[in-house]
Amino acid sequence: MGRFFFEAISSFHYSLHAKKRESLNKPFNLGYTDKETYFIRIKKHKIAYFCSMKVDYIIVGLGLAGLAFAEQLTAANKSFVVFEDDSQTSSLVAGGVYNPVILKRYTPVWNAKEQLEIALPFYEKIEKKLNISIDEKFTIKKVFKSIEDQNNWFAAIDKPKLTPYLDTQLDTNSYTGILANFSFGNVKEAGRIDTKKLVESYRNFLNEQQLIRFEKFNYNDINLQENGLVYNDINASKIVFCEGFGMKLNPFFNYLPLNEVKGELLTIHAPLLNINFLLKSSLFVLPLGNHLFKVGATFNWTDKTAAPSNEGKKELIEKLETIIDVPYTIVDQTAGMRPTVSGRRPLVGVHPDYHQLVLLNGLGTRGVMIAPTVAEELFQHLENNKDLDDEIAISRFKHLLDKKDKATT
Ligand SMILES: Cc1cc2nc3c(=O)[nH]c(=O)nc-3n(C[C@H](O)[C@H](O)[C@H](O)COP(=O)(O)OP(=O)(O)OC[C@H]3O[C@@H](n4cnc5c(N)ncnc54)[C@H](O)[C@@H]3O)c2cc1C
Repeated sequence: MGRFFFEAISSFHYSLHAKKRESLNKPFNLGYTDKETYFIRIKKHKIAYFCSMKVDYIIVGLGLAGLAFAEQLTAANKSFVVFEDDSQTSSLVAGGVYNPVILKRYTPVWNAKEQLEIALPFYEKIEKKLNISIDEKFTIKKVFKSIEDQNNWFAAIDKPKLTPYLDTQLDTNSYTGILANFSFGNVKEAGRIDTKKLVESYRNFLNEQQLIRFEKFNYNDINLQENGLVYNDINASKIVFCEGFGMKLNPFFNYLPLNEVKGELLTIHAPLLNINFLLKSSLFVLPLGNHLFKVGATFNWTDKTAAPSNEGKKELIEKLETIIDVPYTIVDQTAGMRPTVSGRRPLVGVHPDYHQLVLLNGLGTRGVMIAPTVAEELFQHLENNKDLDDEIAISRFKHLLDKKDKATT
């Protein structure tokens, strides 16, 4: 009777998971290869079934933040499992550009030099590990709007943090199909990470090792314990939440001021446009090869929907046609929510009340450059007790948690 009951429960549980996988149209992956081994595993552990997997960390979300933290854990031989439910698209749609200069104001990007020194070898290491090519270096050509704009460029060159990146020689060439009344300024040491290829390849790599579950992480199922936590069948020391804008649904961290800034991009086919640099004006035109170009991006603080919109498309077309005058067709439109923070610094650290719960978020508009550095800082903080920089630590917003607690009591 007992055996029958046990078999019935496990069969029911198996089919529940299988159904979930089917509905997500993803390969079945629970850390068990098939039904048989699943049962064997349950039988072996019986009562301990719901704690059958023991890991150091659970990572929620596999965008740039989750991926950068997973790499830290791998390098340190820490065990982990990732949850990913495809609810956010930021890392998949991103332009992927890394540019050490804010060209709107001619100011340096925060810690640009230090971030690039960590980020570029980081992506190179992943290229080797996954046998993929994702880092394309190129010059960014800034289209000057006026003589004054051009003069500002020269004033900026004298700023020590910008000198290495801004070319003193202006580009006075004209390029077929590009509308420019003034010359171009060249930004050096820039490039692009193909974030879609990176994230998809990394997810496949984790999937092959059964380290990722393509399912929603449910906050209600966390069972906090003194020295760690239990989440369904997983026993872990800590959870690192890397949910991007999905953090808004996280009851432990949604007191933090994460703002959504929707971004939209077009992919166009322009057979007569022949450029091997990134063109930067009111938007960027990024060559992808085969006369395909990524064009973007919009910044929309009011549209809360995640899907591509007609409004976004219209804005991109209007701006595009002020900088190119060759025929083109639109082949794709994508959108995503940038996880931004006022003050433009990431959100990193351990929850003030629960040492098991950790956050890595707020990468804003520059996830490519920031993610590897902040993931490393977080890892050093968690494993080697190094203090987090006050600028990025979530402790700077403790007053907001106190306010939330007061409101709910
Ligand atoms: C249009 C656009 C253009 C951009 N261009 C650039 C650029 O050129 N250069 C640059 O550096 N940055 C760019 N960015 C910003 C960059 O995309 C972000 O900084 C970065 O992708 C954020 O990464 P993330 O991992 O924090 O978040 P995300 O990429 O949003 O990843 C979070 C992941 O968590 C998952 N998740 C959330 N909740 C759950 C849950 N409960 N259970 C399971 N999984 C969950 C989501 O599905 C998602 O995959 C751009 C962004 C947009 C939208």
